[in-house]
Amino acid sequence: MKNIIYNILKILDKIYINPHLLIFGDYTGIASFCFHTVFENDKEKNNNHTLPNIGLTLDEYKYIFDFFKNNNYKFISTKDYKNLNHGDKCIHVTFDDGYFNTTKILPILKDYEIPIDFFIVGNNISNSNKFWWDIIYNKRISEGKSADIIDQEIMFLQRKTFEQIYSYIIENFGLNSYTTLSDLDRPMTENELRQFSQNKLVSIGNHTFDHAILNNLSKNEIYNQIKKTQDYLESIIGYYPNSFAFPNSYYKSEQFEILKSLDIEYAFCGDFRHNKIPRDLRGEKKYRISRYGILSKREINWQLKMIRAGISPFIVAKEIKRLLF
Ligand SMILES: [Zn+2]
Repeated sequence: MKNIIYNILKILDKIYINPHLLIFGDYTGIASFCFHTVFENDKEKNNNHTLPNIGLTLDEYKYIFDFFKNNNYKFISTKDYKNLNHGDKCIHVTFDDGYFNTTKILPILKDYEIPIDFFIVGNNISNSNKFWWDIIYNKRISEGKSADIIDQEIMFLQRKTFEQIYSYIIENFGLNSYTTLSDLDRPMTENELRQFSQNKLVSIGNHTFDHAILNNLSKNEIYNQIKKTQDYLESIIGYYPNSFAFPNSYYKSEQFEILKSLDIEYAFCGDFRHNKIPRDLRGEKKYRISRYGILSKREINWQLKMIRAGISPFIVAKEIKRLLF
């Protein structure tokens, strides 16, 4: 059923988008992207060490950056947020979690002069553990499970506390499952993060200490998750991050006060829409800055055109689903 709805929306989108772009042009404001992993090639994508869907190859990243450069977009980071004008067309590239493989994007960022914001999970940097969703994917695929079934298991766990997820992994796969398999699935070391943060194109942000879903926690626990990560990151990179990304995009507006009290100026979620300048960069709205995701299993060109338009049958359906669930 899910696939049928998806295919109908894709067909409607393809009919809709070209005339829309021709008549209305690009949607203005900031289209922020939430990326995770960087593969050197398709072979790396298919080795199952990490979730393949949330990663793209270097060629795919270049394709995306060229696409927006050729359509006269400006690439910005949170450092530029205060100097933007209404009507600007901007792309903001962000990476979540803290994978070592993200460092492979640096030569491209340099060539294209693209700044990024990089949101770090403290505990994985500190203990070098594999990220839990990659453990599930790697183990289940080797048992012959389908990608859809694995997706469901990951989505079920995303709603649990990090202690519950930890117990689940240990019970099902043993303590050793947290050991990384290669450079692809490992987090950065503290030294690598320090070096990465010194690149002038890179800004570091907070993504909680345990990739904790904040909606599952008390106010005090939320404060501790964010504060502990601020202190930890400061000890490595030398400054307190002023930006934050909600793990798995689960958030509630009462959490904004806690972010504010910890000097976080901007917080990012995964709501699938543009951010208007300056309206969405002020007040409460700057604590739920939206980000688009690109799924590598879908046609990239269609996804990019949809984002240029900023509105389409697919985007409307996604927003309705978010508001209902
Ligand atoms: Zn994350």
